[in-house]
Amino acid sequence: MKPINSVVCIKPVPDQRFWDKVSLDKKTKTLRRTGIPIALGPLDKNALEEALRIREASGGKVTAISMGPPGTEEILEWAIVLGADEAVLLTDRAFAGADTWATAYALAWGIKKLGGADVVFFGNESLDGSTGQVGPQVAEFLDMPHVTHVNKLDLVGEDALRARFHIEHGFIDVEVKRPVVIAVEKTINEPRCPTLWGTIWLRERKIIRWSADDVGADKAKIGLPGSPTQVSDVITIELKRKSEILSGEPSDVARLLVQKLQADSVLPKG
Ligand SMILES: Cc1cc2nc3c(=O)[nH]c(=O)nc-3n(C[C@H](O)[C@H](O)[C@H](O)COP(=O)(O)OP(=O)(O)OC[C@H]3O[C@@H](n4cnc5c(N)ncnc54)[C@H](O)[C@@H]3O)c2cc1C
Repeated sequence: MKPINSVVCIKPVPDQRFWDKVSLDKKTKTLRRTGIPIALGPLDKNALEEALRIREASGGKVTAISMGPPGTEEILEWAIVLGADEAVLLTDRAFAGADTWATAYALAWGIKKLGGADVVFFGNESLDGSTGQVGPQVAEFLDMPHVTHVNKLDLVGEDALRARFHIEHGFIDVEVKRPVVIAVEKTINEPRCPTLWGTIWLRERKIIRWSADDVGADKAKIGLPGSPTQVSDVITIELKRKSEILSGEPSDVARLLVQKLQADSVLPKG
């Protein structure tokens, strides 16, 4: 079997354990991230796991790539500890303010600089932005087919993959020629745990840092100037809860509770 080189796109997202500290800044129309540690997105772990499994079956190389500010090295180191052969950080002030299109452009140029890939893996959607747009957009920039919502992947012959993807009431199996972009769902696999060997491996590997000039990106197509969408407003949903304590005999309280829930249209009437 031919060795398969995979690139896995991983996004730095706010660590889920600190989500209660994340808020929206009305003025800058961005998330307030100061003081919130970053983490590797959960679906990106599944994407990395799938690339590692393919490498175990066919040989080849796994490269993790991320676009983000300095500090993003942390999640790339995590990717190396889990088994990636190399990791690349696209970092440059010129990338700041990117929407999904400008993010995808930068990632695509990073992947081109790597010499392309047989399979480019994504999480189906990120934990925070969750648009699910970046994978398909990278596929467009690289002129590759893409399959999203993938929850099963098998190698077929010398140059294809069979992908099972999720639709509303079932699944569809497709066969697709490599090179291809694959965006995975959580159910595709169980990501492995880090090993001692992985942490030793990390010491021998350096994170490659590339700027916009290093990847030959057109400055008009990256960051804020390259972003066709603009955030016009951010709205925080105010949660208002009213509380009422019902007391009395359990059967009376249950009856009253049902009546109140029906009155608020939480339960159907009748
Ligand atoms: C007008 C505008 C301005 C913005 N400005 C900023 C800003 O200043 N700072 C900021 O932090 N964000 C900014 N954002 C958000 C930023 O565009 C998104 O975080 C980014 O494009 C990814 O979108 P998403 O989270 O919806 O990804 P999705 O499409 O949901 O992600 C799917 C998958 O794509 C991959 N992926 C996504 N992003 C990356 C990445 N950066 N590196 C590697 N892989 C990735 C991962 O595999 C991920 O699982 C802005 C968005 C808009 C619309």
